[in-house]
Amino acid sequence: MKLLLLVADSLRYDYFHANLPGATVWDNAYACAPWTVASQASLLTGLSPSAAFHAGLADAASPQPLTVADWLGGDIGYKCSATYLLEVGHFGRNFEVWRASGEYKSDDELVTQTLDYLAAAPENAFHITWLNATHFPYKPKPETRERFGLDSDIWHVRDFIRRGELPIPKGTLANCFAVNIVAKTAQDGPEKTHPEVTMEEIEFLRRIYAACCWDMDRRLEEVYAAATTQGWGIIVTSDHGESLGERGGFGHWDLHEENVHIPLAASLPGLGAGVHPYFASHIDIPKTILELTLGEVTGMDGYSLLDLPFPRVVHYEQGVWGTRPWQFGRKDLDSALIYDPEKGTVERYDCRTDPEQRKAPDVFGEQTAPLEVVELIRRGREATFQRQGLSEEQVADALRKLGYI
Ligand SMILES: [Zn+2]
Repeated sequence: MKLLLLVADSLRYDYFHANLPGATVWDNAYACAPWTVASQASLLTGLSPSAAFHAGLADAASPQPLTVADWLGGDIGYKCSATYLLEVGHFGRNFEVWRASGEYKSDDELVTQTLDYLAAAPENAFHITWLNATHFPYKPKPETRERFGLDSDIWHVRDFIRRGELPIPKGTLANCFAVNIVAKTAQDGPEKTHPEVTMEEIEFLRRIYAACCWDMDRRLEEVYAAATTQGWGIIVTSDHGESLGERGGFGHWDLHEENVHIPLAASLPGLGAGVHPYFASHIDIPKTILELTLGEVTGMDGYSLLDLPFPRVVHYEQGVWGTRPWQFGRKDLDSALIYDPEKGTVERYDCRTDPEQRKAPDVFGEQTAPLEVVELIRRGREATFQRQGLSEEQVADALRKLGYI
């Protein structure tokens, strides 16, 4: 069995239009978390991010959560490889090839590498390709820029986000390109324009993101076509969505529709082409991969995507999960449930009448991440800067600018 997991970072559900002939498509697929590190943890372990973190993700001396490669490598004999994933935790330990995101150059190069890999891989192989061009800062190909009529150059919002000139409290996940900035324009309409961001700029940002998604669709189509032609099973998804000014946010932080509703499509043995309304989640993906390769597995959260329809009922403890303590929640066909452990309340949103949870109370007002998560990211950043050959002083300076120290 040859299996490919193809992930497009920050590709949100409603901007995904790739033509994948013969694919099974899940219309209600949700990320376990609205950001990369936590989503990656779920995609590799089949655990909710909270479970993966609690299993010692941040500390090599602690018991480690098992990844798909732990199950499939070694005596089982699968060649497991991954390009290019974040270097946090110790996920790469049993991948024969593990290239960290620090080595990433461009999606086009990565597509070429993936196509070469598909053609040369042994019979039993599991490969992950993690594409990035839909992540901020959005840079479509020049010809796509032209196609989308992006002739103006309003980079103000993008620069504003990139420079991190944002009202973010110390000790938060002040990732300078994924932030929840105060841009009231999109939320409240032009009459309440935030002095820093105009509606025109937000529209431009949306168009340039759409252009990146257009490029991404073509890449996904190319890899999908090659994989299916060569007998690979393939799962296509993203790690989370993206906010483009909705509710005043940019980047990806909270559990709103824009950030956690993700594309999910697959061509796998036993699945026919079609669109399914069933709720699916990242934690279902490893279980599916293991069921295809090893047969039944136990001790893993989630359902196999092969078991359509899922026998799902509402489980508050499973499903969508955020990085902050109050971001526990669950999305089903008719409702979204978001649990706030600090207040002890569960907010229910009726997705039929309020699909985008716009009546949401402001439970996302505070932005403090658990300290261990901040520390985890800080270490990852530090390792990347050191690998880039920065001096100790430069590393410290860079970390300070990013708000980690
Ligand atoms: Zn991501």
